[in-house]
Amino acid sequence: MNESSSTSRQLEGVVIAFDIDNTLLSPHPNAYRHTIDQYLSFHDIGLLPEEAYKAHEKIRAMGNALEAIGLPNSIHHRGTPETLALYLIGYASDKFMYEKFGLNLMERCLSLEWLNEVSELIRTGCEGDWHSRFTTYIEYRNRVKRPPATLVDPVRIIAESKLVQDWSATYADAERDNVEIIDFAPLMRKLQSLGANLVIITEGRYALQSEKLNRIGLAELFKNRILVTESAARPDGIEDIERIIANAIETGTQAEELLKDQRIRNAWGTKLLTDAWAGKSPAFFARCLHAIAARPAAPQQALSDSEATVNDEHWQTNPTRFVMVGDRYEKDIEPLIELLGPGGCTTIRLTQGRYGRLHPLGELEPHRRPTHTFEHWDALHAFLTTKLHSHDVPVIDVAPSVIHEKLIEQNGCSPKPYPMSIGSSLF
Ligand SMILES: [Mg+2]
Repeated sequence: MNESSSTSRQLEGVVIAFDIDNTLLSPHPNAYRHTIDQYLSFHDIGLLPEEAYKAHEKIRAMGNALEAIGLPNSIHHRGTPETLALYLIGYASDKFMYEKFGLNLMERCLSLEWLNEVSELIRTGCEGDWHSRFTTYIEYRNRVKRPPATLVDPVRIIAESKLVQDWSATYADAERDNVEIIDFAPLMRKLQSLGANLVIITEGRYALQSEKLNRIGLAELFKNRILVTESAARPDGIEDIERIIANAIETGTQAEELLKDQRIRNAWGTKLLTDAWAGKSPAFFARCLHAIAARPAAPQQALSDSEATVNDEHWQTNPTRFVMVGDRYEKDIEPLIELLGPGGCTTIRLTQGRYGRLHPLGELEPHRRPTHTFEHWDALHAFLTTKLHSHDVPVIDVAPSVIHEKLIEQNGCSPKPYPMSIGSSLF
């Protein structure tokens, strides 16, 4: 087919963002079992395979539960999920936990109890305005000091141990064996030739996500274009503020006192809005869009630079037409509908992988549906390269708000602003 000059740049001015897991990379849902089998074949941690599977599943479920109230999802933020799985396996294993780390049964139970108590908060809900939630959290931390302190050393030791390093190596090998690799590079280059600006928007740690892109041969193509929740949640200077807050929590300072400090209010507000623990929130996408508008060719750097994304001036020169491609409705589609309104951008859902059957179209009100839905990559591929045109993608003409201070006052830190992640450094 001959393309005329007018159609050869049909995606000029369009930003297309891709999720990674179950979008560009399709892990086998039970790959972890294979990994555990391999690991147990050369390390005896006192568990049968079925027990170890259950431990792994439990840490995943716990991670999702913690994330739902804004706490760190260990899967994304405490090394690899496997490190955490091993850590939990340790809880189940007298031999491992007691002999290696000297934690007695009571200490282990206390730690588990603490984790369970967090889960209970989810069940009972976290009602109230932002300030009362914050106060509740401070009280909560003061009430249960011991278990988190008990956790610190074992986590550190485990993370540094040979057992975990072996595990990570086993996992990397097993994952390679259990992932469907599709060569997306030709598609990406084609989209670029049509004028599209390509980025990655995904959850988790930068190191882990860029490693995945490396594995599927897209690292170079997305250099400086990987927008992860970790980067958004670690605005420059946040370490100092966290130290102040951590000290205050340990010494029992009341929330009201902390909030008198403007620096804490600002830093905490930014963190609330973009907190990695809340995953792909509307606020996270707002920050991503600002980062893209501020530095279209290298948005990755802008994402962790608060200054680069609080000023709306860049929006006048770089208004954005935005397309998001991902597999999970509640992570890749819904936050954008909340942020920009129905039809505010083009959302494309790929209903493949382990989450593909969740949130079927029939359960969604028409205005809450993705703009397009595809079951297979082939159809999406064809759509992106031949059907999608920039004039079909709405311009986001008003910059999404990232004014955190105002949002704190209005208690508008949707969707999951429970501020417990303030103590994540202690967890
Ligand atoms: Mg995904």
